[in-house]
Amino acid sequence: MFKSEYVKKVYDNLVAKNPNELEFQQAALEILESLEPLVLARPEIQKNKILERFVEPERFVQFRVAWVDDNGEVQVNRGYRVQYNSSIGPYKGGLRFHPTVNASIIKFLGLEQVLKNSLTSLPMGGGKGGSDFDPKGKSDREIMAFCQAFMTELYRHIGPDTDVPAGDIGVGGREIGYLYGQYRRIKNENVGVLTGKGLTYGGSLVRTEATGYGLCYFTLEALKVMKNESFKAKKVVISGSGNVAIYACEKATSLGAKVVAMSDSNGYIYDEDGINLAVVKEIKEVRRGRIKEYLNYVTKAKYVEGPQNIWAIKCDIALPCATQNELDLEAAKMLVKNGVIAVCEGANMPSTLEAAKYFISSGIIYGPAKAANAGGVATSGLEMSQNSARLSWSFAEVDAKLKDIMVNIFHNAYNMAKKLGNPYDLLAGANIAGFEKVCNAMLALGVY
Ligand code: NDP
Repeated sequence: MFKSEYVKKVYDNLVAKNPNELEFQQAALEILESLEPLVLARPEIQKNKILERFVEPERFVQFRVAWVDDNGEVQVNRGYRVQYNSSIGPYKGGLRFHPTVNASIIKFLGLEQVLKNSLTSLPMGGGKGGSDFDPKGKSDREIMAFCQAFMTELYRHIGPDTDVPAGDIGVGGREIGYLYGQYRRIKNENVGVLTGKGLTYGGSLVRTEATGYGLCYFTLEALKVMKNESFKAKKVVISGSGNVAIYACEKATSLGAKVVAMSDSNGYIYDEDGINLAVVKEIKEVRRGRIKEYLNYVTKAKYVEGPQNIWAIKCDIALPCATQNELDLEAAKMLVKNGVIAVCEGANMPSTLEAAKYFISSGIIYGPAKAANAGGVATSGLEMSQNSARLSWSFAEVDAKLKDIMVNIFHNAYNMAKKLGNPYDLLAGANIAGFEKVCNAMLALGVY
């Protein structure tokens, strides 16, 4: 597994200190394995214990969130914020509201975020947060009550130059609005302390679309450079039907592809004529319903119970945009056998480590999450710039910047992968390209 005794020791120590945190261990293993060539080439990393410091969050906050539901009953949830690494800028990373959220999930997302933010080339450190609160089935008033209670604790840990959270699973424009409303009530400040804000109160155009659009810009550049291909006439399968999936579908379609399947945690829909995105938006964005309801609008589409088998559909391009570990080795083998040419990740760590390694060894394009889905946080960085300057850029301006950033991220990861000897290993390329900047900043800042 490891060639370097030093890297192995760092990993073994992390496992011993964080037992039962499987997602965190998985993310750390994936990153540490691929950093080995750099560690062997640069002895100052070991000498200054950079890896030990890199995997240990600067700060981890856990707190109680008590709120009152519509029946007048008190509910208690657990809130988290990990402030992982601030060597290149203020902590930055989303908030996830989902019943599966725990310390392991938050730390894996935080660690990934450090490298992702570095790859954007913007000055942003890494953080992540959230709660085990389940927004599903809650009334609008309950969502507001929860968000207000959550921010009543979180506000003391964040700030426009300290830590700037955004959305993630279960946290979209509505939740960011309630969170920001409460921050302003407490602090009496109109500042860029959250991103993903509404356009009427400091948000940026393109932020809603950014992760999905950015994923397609990254994929398009990879297709062009690595396979002399494009999205034109390609059959695409997208998992999920949330923020990332919807805007990935929109951009892929506008680039000439046909998206034939999308899913939610209950199952997937297959529409051989191409997904009607207006219907998906109506179901998911307006009514907050289930993907199965697509059949009420498009009667000849098919619905299959259980989301996992979506990867059995024959396609040219697969864009996993739902959640972690949704694509295992078996699914990876099926995709490759069916002739997929590109698998690019909109979700965070959607492929298991075995699946990722299989893609890399198969000679297909594998776009790892921290590179391929960095468009969301990159546009959040652009929102921060606009907030600081008290300016609003046009849609075209932000979109052009997003495109540049994604093309640049691809080339950084690809050039590093080529330098390492395997142009298909964009995972190692992205990890090392992202890590180098953080490492150099940590060395320059001295021990902290
Ligand atoms: P949303 O909450 O908007 O949507 C998540 C979607 O995934 C929902 O449709 C959900 O369905 C579905 N889903 C959850 N679990 C499964 C499953 N096991 N199989 C199939 N579908 C499932 O979240 P986002 O779109 O914002 O986030 C999706 C992923 O993208 C996450 O991994 C997130 O960390 C990552 N990401 C998001 C960014 C952003 O800007 N929003 C930025 C970078 C990464 P259901 O309604 O049934 O739960």
